[in-house]
This record gives sequence, C-alpha cells and structure tokens, in this order.
Amino acid sequence: MENILTICYLIGSVTFILGLKMLSHPASARKGNLIAAAGMTIAILGTIFLYEDKEEGKKLGNYIWIFSGLIIGTIVGTLIAKKVKMTAMPQMVSLFNGMGGACAALISIIEFQHIAHNIENGGGAVHHGLLISIFLGAIIGSVSFAGSMIAWGKLNGNIKDYAYGGQQVVNVGLMAVILGIAAYLLFTLSPENAYWFYIIFAVSLLYGVLFVMPIGGADMPVVISLLNSFTGVAAACGGFLYDNKVMLTGGILVGAAGTLLTILMCNAMNRSLKNVLLGSFGGATKASGGNKEQGNYKEISLSDAATVMAYSNKVMIVPGYGLAVAQAQHTCHELEKLLEEKGVEVKYAIHPVAGRMPGHMNVLLAEADVSYDKLLEMEEANDEFKNTDVVLILGANDVVNPAAKNDPSSPIYGMPILEVEQAKTVIVNKRSMKPGYAGIENDLFFQPKTSMLFGDAKAALQKLVAEIKNV
Ligand code: NDP
Repeated sequence: MENILTICYLIGSVTFILGLKMLSHPASARKGNLIAAAGMTIAILGTIFLYEDKEEGKKLGNYIWIFSGLIIGTIVGTLIAKKVKMTAMPQMVSLFNGMGGACAALISIIEFQHIAHNIENGGGAVHHGLLISIFLGAIIGSVSFAGSMIAWGKLNGNIKDYAYGGQQVVNVGLMAVILGIAAYLLFTLSPENAYWFYIIFAVSLLYGVLFVMPIGGADMPVVISLLNSFTGVAAACGGFLYDNKVMLTGGILVGAAGTLLTILMCNAMNRSLKNVLLGSFGGATKASGGNKEQGNYKEISLSDAATVMAYSNKVMIVPGYGLAVAQAQHTCHELEKLLEEKGVEVKYAIHPVAGRMPGHMNVLLAEADVSYDKLLEMEEANDEFKNTDVVLILGANDVVNPAAKNDPSSPIYGMPILEVEQAKTVIVNKRSMKPGYAGIENDLFFQPKTSMLFGDAKAALQKLVAEIKNV
C-alpha cells in the first residue's frame, strides 16, 4: 500500500510541475491546469484510502467528514467559478488564496493542540523542528489569510486604502512581537504558557490586515502575488509537519512560483520587496498626486479615427482593464485582421499590470486567438512607439499615465509605463474622463496629439470595424 501511495504522490508531483510549465503559455494553460488538477486528485484519493499510520497501522477514517467537506467545497467552488465574471477573477483568486492560508494556519493550530495535550499528559520533549514548522505555518498562513481578505475587499471596492503615520514602525514592531513570542515558546513550551501560541496567531492576523491596508493605487498586483507565495510556503510547512511529500512539493512549487512572480511584479512596478513587506507604498498618497487641473481634451469622430488608422503604416493597440470589462477582445481581433488586410502592421503593447491580474491581457487576447507573436512586452513596445503612426488605447489608463514618469507627488511615480506619447497620434477609447484603478487624473488625455473616442470598448470597436470597411 505504501508503495502505491508513493507512486500516487509521484504522479501528483510530476503532473503539478508539468501543469505549471504548461500554464506559462496561453495555448497550453487550460490543459496544464487540468493535468495538475487530475494529478492532485490522484494524490488526495491516495491519501484518503491508502495512507496508514506507521506506528498503529490505522487508516485515515473520518470518511463522512472528509467527503462531506469535499462535496460541499466542490459544489460551492464549481458554482462560483462558473458564475464569476472574467473581470472579477482577481477577487476570486484572493479569496481562494486566503482559504489556502486559513487551511495552513488551522493545520498548525490542530497540531499544536496535539503537542500541548501530549505535554500536559507528561509526554517527552518536543522536537524543535516540529514546533518551528507549526509556528511558521500558523504565522504565514494567518498573515496570508487576513491579507488576502483585505485584498479581496479592496479589489471589490468595499475596503478603501488606509494609511497612518508610523505604520512601518508598527508593522516592524508587530513582526518583532510575533517572532519574539515564537522564540520564547520554542525553548520554554509548557502547559502553563501554551496559550501564548494563540497570541501569535491573533497578532499575525492583525499584521496581515495592517500590512495590506495602506497598499493600493497601482500596487495591488505585487501584494496579490506575494500573498500567493505566502500560502504556498504555509502549505509546505504542513507538508513538513505530516511528512507528506506531495503537500511539500505542491507548497514549495506554489511558494517558489509566487516568489518569482512577486519579484517580476516588483521589477515591473519599480518597487522594492522590503517596502511591500512593510506596507509602505501605494495608495496612501493617492489624494496628493496627479489630480491637478488638466485643461481641455479633444474628441475624434469614428469616421476620422477609421480613416487615420486605415491609412497608417503601423498601429499599436494598448489593451487595458476596460477591454476586459467590455469583453471586446474578439472585436479587437477583428479590427486587427481588417487593418492587416489593408496593409497596416498591427501589434499589441502589453503592460505587465494591465487589467486586474498578472497576465490578464495575455489570457484575454489568447481567448480571441490573437497570435502570441503580435504581443510586445513593455520594453519592446516602448522601443517601437517612435515608429508607430497610431496608438489605439482600449480601456487602459494607469499603465499609460505619464505622471508615473514626471510627477514625484503621484502615487504611481516610479512605475514604468507604456510611453505611448512617442507615437505620432494617440486615440484613447474609454467611456468618460473618469480615472482608472489608482484613482488619479491622466495628463495623457489632455496632450495635443491625443484624441478621445468615447464609448464602451465593444460598441466603439464594432462601429470602427464597420467604418474601416467603408474606407
Ligand atoms: P485602469 O483600471 O487604470 O483603467 C481602466 C479604464 O478602463 C478606466 O479608466 C475606465 O474608464 C475604462 N473602462 C472601463 N470600462 C470600460 C468599457 N466598458 N469600455 C471602455 N473603457 C472602459 O486599467 P489599466 O489596465 O490601465 O491598469 C490596471 C490597473 O489595475 C493598474 O493600476 C494596476 O496596478 C491595477 N491592478 C492590476 C492588477 C494586476 O494584477 N494586473 C491587480 C490589481 C490592480 P471609464 O470608466 O471612463 O470608461
């Protein structure tokens, strides 16, 4: 039985790695997800039916509890996943991530209770390695749970950014308290002081809330990927605790992938990881930057936009969150094909944090069968803008806001942006002059070479396609 279980774990680990690899390309992502899920199902069923306690030779049992949980979770998860809009995916990912963190923290609490019970009944000394895994699982899991719940509320728009003076000192202080109590318990754990463990748990929850509260503006993607990596590490601690290889492998892979994504996001946003961990950047200064009087903007008619684009040599499309809201990716692809038929070269400029989740625009455009080699990453696109006749911005705002380059008081200052103003003409499609996610005005809309094409992205693109057919 043990050998079969080891094979199940091997299948789980290999499919997880394969799945992750396949997730790195939109064309294979869906299949990769299914392969990893199938492997994990085998590992979970193997654990439920084949695992035996080495000392007592007992199986897991508790089948009613386990399967009730699995069935309820599967039904709720499937219903939510089917109902959720593509644009609300980040909230859902935050919620799932938070649940993963909560599971890891609960595992630590239950295992700590076993240990405390053992000590009370005169059991021998506790292995330090075991206690460290329990503490880490509880701390990281609860920070991840509380932080993800706040991130979920912020992405929903229900929780506003909240910053106060000295927040960095408070956050460092809380972390010192958590680590101090953990070190104290590690060496002195007894039935009399075991309750301090629950204080670690409570302070970690508070830390999770306080470290995400001030972060906002354009910086949420970094926090989301960081919390994701925390959940992976917390799950790996559970793998250590139970000496469960597949849990360990899964946790390490999620933790490592999340950490790599966090580093990529930090680079993309030009932020330091230290500042993210201390919760010391982002939306706190929202009101102070980028909201000055901007002057007049000019509008462009559909027929003029169609003519300018049809007679240009090169058009660069900048997709943003609004394109996802309007679900206009298919019409956008239609426009691209039409322009190419007329001899116009069309490319897409992809900002790493455009939309509301890492890779959002890549997934959106892949869904509409846009060829992957038409998508330019930010640096590549910035090199090409000077040779571009028309930039068509579809529902993007923060990722093209020049305040990131030239307004030190702006909350997005320092974030690399798509430098669209280098092109000859810029056409911006959005519904109004309202700001984007970071809540700040965009000077680009008021520049002489920019024209506004107001309307829902899908409707505007459909009309543009019709107009271009007549040019
Ligand atoms: P923004 O959120 O800055 O702007 C989107 C724009 O789309 C809005 O100004 C809105 O203007 C317009 N819009 C909304 N609906 C429509 C519609 N139906 N048709 C046309 N336009 C529409 O988007 P960006 O993609 O430029 O930037 C992403 C922002 O989100 C960044 O600040 C990023 O940090 C943040 N973020 C990103 C995450 C990620 O992982 N990628 C996660 C969390 C946050 P109007 O209302 O006038 O139409």
